[in-house]
Amino acid sequence: MSGSRSDAKRPRILLVDDDATIRVIAQDHLEAAGFQVVTASRGGQVLTRFVEERPDLLLLDLQMPELDGLSICEQVRSRSEGEHVPIVVMTSLDDVEWVRRAYEAGATDFVTKPVDWLVVTERLRYMLRAVALHRELRRREARLERIQRIAHLGSWEFDLEAGALHASSEVRLLYGLETSSETLSPQALLDRIHAEDRPEVQHAVGRSLRKGAPLAIDHRVVLPDGETRVVRAQGEACLGEGGRVVELAGTAQDVTEQKRVEERIRFLAYHDSLTQLPNRRLFSELLRQSLAQARRRGRRLAVLFLDLDHLKRINDSLGHSVGDELLQRVADRLRSCTREEDMVSRVPTRDASPTISRFGGDEFLVVLNEINVSEDAGRVAGRILEVLCRPFAVKGHELVVGASIGIAIHPSDGTDVETLLSSADAAMYHAKDSGRNNYQFYEQSMNEAALRRLQLEGELRKAIEGDQLHVHYQPKLELGSARISGAEALLRWTHPRLGRVSPGEFVPVAEQGGLIHSIGRFVMRAACAQAKAWLDHGVGPVRVSVNLSAHQFAGDGIVDTVRSVLEETGLPPRWLELEITESVLMENEQLAVGALKELRQEGIRVSLDDFGTGYSSLSYLKRFPVDTVKIDRSFVRDITTEPEDAAIIGASISIARALDMKVIAEGVETPEQRQFLQERGCDEIQGYLYSPPVDAESLAELLRRDGTTDSA
Ligand code: C2E
Ligand code: CA
Ligand code: CA
Repeated sequence: MSGSRSDAKRPRILLVDDDATIRVIAQDHLEAAGFQVVTASRGGQVLTRFVEERPDLLLLDLQMPELDGLSICEQVRSRSEGEHVPIVVMTSLDDVEWVRRAYEAGATDFVTKPVDWLVVTERLRYMLRAVALHRELRRREARLERIQRIAHLGSWEFDLEAGALHASSEVRLLYGLETSSETLSPQALLDRIHAEDRPEVQHAVGRSLRKGAPLAIDHRVVLPDGETRVVRAQGEACLGEGGRVVELAGTAQDVTEQKRVEERIRFLAYHDSLTQLPNRRLFSELLRQSLAQARRRGRRLAVLFLDLDHLKRINDSLGHSVGDELLQRVADRLRSCTREEDMVSRVPTRDASPTISRFGGDEFLVVLNEINVSEDAGRVAGRILEVLCRPFAVKGHELVVGASIGIAIHPSDGTDVETLLSSADAAMYHAKDSGRNNYQFYEQSMNEAALRRLQLEGELRKAIEGDQLHVHYQPKLELGSARISGAEALLRWTHPRLGRVSPGEFVPVAEQGGLIHSIGRFVMRAACAQAKAWLDHGVGPVRVSVNLSAHQFAGDGIVDTVRSVLEETGLPPRWLELEITESVLMENEQLAVGALKELRQEGIRVSLDDFGTGYSSLSYLKRFPVDTVKIDRSFVRDITTEPEDAAIIGASISIARALDMKVIAEGVETPEQRQFLQERGCDEIQGYLYSPPVDAESLAELLRRDGTTDSA
């Protein structure tokens, strides 16, 4: 057993000679030197023996009868297992011609007869060692090639002196240059590089060759079948004497897949996954580029900020999958309707097509590059609104959405991304305010107002929780008796930093921000509680009137709110009056009229505030469930100087009379105004002449001093 194992380690030599004496002598020497020896005496046996014995070396007599050594050499070499086995031929000294032919036939070396076995065994041993090294090298090369193939990585060297480019098979494969030769023509390789990338590659290689700079460049390769791959070439310069570059060597790797993945990741990072439109990040970048170009060419550019109406409602009622699909459809319509070139009179340039982006939620942005006149932007906005108005069919639902669009123009409304966006945003809010489904251009003053509104909205939220809101009361005076007929509750906000903020400013903010419901309830509760307290303490009694905004009628909770406040405070309904404006009635006629009728039945009074300023004519009056008409102070102001105002007041008073309504005039500041109103038959007045709005304490004093119409 152990013998066979040591046999396995000993190099095996196949000795071929027709001379038996030589065979014996050779075998003796070789075995003594540690080789295993197998022999063959005739050329005809060699191939069979070779295949059976798998020798590490072939020692071959050249001159033999039958089949000579040359033919054997050729035959062995032609077989795959014999390709790399060293073949040493033995010949007589005078056979130079034979030796030459033997080399041609594939012999590795030769020895001359008679053989000096001591020298030859050393030579064979050395030869076998070289073969082993060679085999190892070949194995490593094969492994490297395999690895390179797996990694789509090849190696190359560019020898400057010889002007030769050597490339591994993988490199040749990458560039579609499937020659068997390792040497390529640099031009052939360059021809495979995508024409657009070629100058850059040439430049980079040139730099490396001249300055010895490292090479690193990605470029596209167009293969003979038309397929495009991306190859990353990296290299290093080898410096010769004097620091001159003599060689450039490196790798080439197929990074097509990697690039594709990178691109996908980049796409995801820069696009909205729902609509595939550029997201905020990419949009800002694109807008920045567009702005730079518009600036260079002295052109206008428009940013359209679009906000969809009703998306939240659709999400809430039909679910997010419907909302999502709707957003996709909206994106599609935006894409198709902004593509219609004829709407915009812009300069025809390569990259003037509009950029559309989704900013998240229900906000979309459109940039119109290089427009000639601002009106173009308006035209596109109008077209978008028209297209979005048409119903969408989503999952069996027919959905109608509207939108509000704000427009900002470069350079007049801003010259950088941030300014333009905030201008367009402000304009969009302006559009929302002026009734949905329209567009608005930006104006500078609007922006400041919008900023202030935003600030107020935030502060107002805190004010409700904090102790910043108070109610003041302004008395109403009955002209006939000169007694107090009622008190209007007016909200006061004192902010710790902003000071007093007028309700004329913060009430609209509360309405837009949805805060009006909680604020309205606060005022109602405070006023009713106060009236009840006066009632309980024998002050008055006095009717309090509370202003209601149109938004408080939008939901259907107003009747319940009023009832629950009355119940909570214990104030009998007849001591409460509601002041509403004409617009409340005009905007939600059915809802409001219904609610007011219901409340009136319980004994609550209704007063029509700011009368004369709205769009209702006097003839409307009889349709409204109203007890009192309150003539707006703008008419009262000029009552003694403007005959027209005087006439309107006169007419209002007579119609109200005819309809069995009371008339009160607000904003009465002078005795002349009072005189005039009294002469025309006005019932009550309210204004600074008698008293400004005052706190509850002060009002109680007035009530005690002058008495009330109901206290008698
Ligand atoms: P409004 O209902 O027309 O209230 C009358 C406004 O005229 C009050 O302004 C009052 O202070 C002011 N005023 C009273 N007498 C005179 C006068 O002789 N001359 C002049 N120039 N002004 C006089 P205020 O308190 O600033 O309120 C402004 C508006 O804010 C109110 O107009 C009302 O529409 C709204 N508002 C105030 N409080 C509330 C509230 O609690 N709820 C709602 N929804 N709106 C309120
Ligand atoms: Ca009022
Ligand atoms: Ca008023």
